[in-house]
Amino acid sequence: MSKRLISGLHHVTALSSGAQENLDFYAGILGLKMVKKTINFDAPEVYHLYYGDRQGSPGTLMTFFPYPGIVKGRKGTGQLTVTSFSTAAGSLEYWMKRLDRFNVEYTTPQKRFEGEEFIYFEDGDGLGIEIVANEADSREGYYHGHIPGPHAIKGFYSVTLNEQRHDRTASFITGLLEHTLIAENNGRKRFSTNGKPGSLVDITGTESGSAGRQGSGTVHHVAFATENYDSQLEIRERLAAEGVHVTPVIDRQYFQSIYFREPGGVLFEVATIPPGMAVDEAPESLGEALMLPPWHEKHRAEIENNLEPVEFDIEKFRD
Ligand code: ZN
Repeated sequence: MSKRLISGLHHVTALSSGAQENLDFYAGILGLKMVKKTINFDAPEVYHLYYGDRQGSPGTLMTFFPYPGIVKGRKGTGQLTVTSFSTAAGSLEYWMKRLDRFNVEYTTPQKRFEGEEFIYFEDGDGLGIEIVANEADSREGYYHGHIPGPHAIKGFYSVTLNEQRHDRTASFITGLLEHTLIAENNGRKRFSTNGKPGSLVDITGTESGSAGRQGSGTVHHVAFATENYDSQLEIRERLAAEGVHVTPVIDRQYFQSIYFREPGGVLFEVATIPPGMAVDEAPESLGEALMLPPWHEKHRAEIENNLEPVEFDIEKFRD
């Protein structure tokens, strides 16, 4: 088989309410690095905060549009309901203690597939999160020095799509998006392009479930990674040829994007790996300054004025 056009997950983007609470949860409690502080290019009055590993590598990027005071969403079908982060086997003990300290409730550890154990919890807006302890992930992960290296989050493990029907979404991602069914358990099907953590897409089906509603604590879209601009165009042509309504290529500064909906209703994106997070900031100072794309730069004063200032105080989060 020729090289696949999709190499795994690129990022997950969700809606939150307060920006400071969001920063405290993901950079503080979970210890991810804020690798980019920018704005929603389509709504410049709102931040776009990116968290990930040291370089902001594809497959580690959790991003948020914090809309202060936004209505709370409702979990349901046609949504990505759980984003799962990867950590080393044996690390759940550490994470449970840490979540206790910050008064985050979590489930008891559970097993789903061979070689993995997870806990489920939610961020302050109700977004569904898991930490999955496993031995399969060779990525180093990132910590600010306030999470011991061996327990650091390494990036995404998987995402879970909650659908009314498995079949349409399954054939869509195995067909046009080149995923393979790699495991199945208790109504859950797992798909991947390479079998590794950071590329796993689980589909669960709830035929009687009601549709989710977008709002804080829900995922806006999930992006898959593709090697370069040519491979993105190839995917775009393939989707269009099959009658999928796909956007033109859009410049997102750190990657180029196309968007389309899978048959169950979840918004998908295919994002290019280049140019990456260091295109406008030095790699060692990612996330420190408010970065604007060139076409918004002339409105910087006004944009900055509209945004609630946020600050990461690492002292509050040290072990
Ligand atoms: Zn995106």
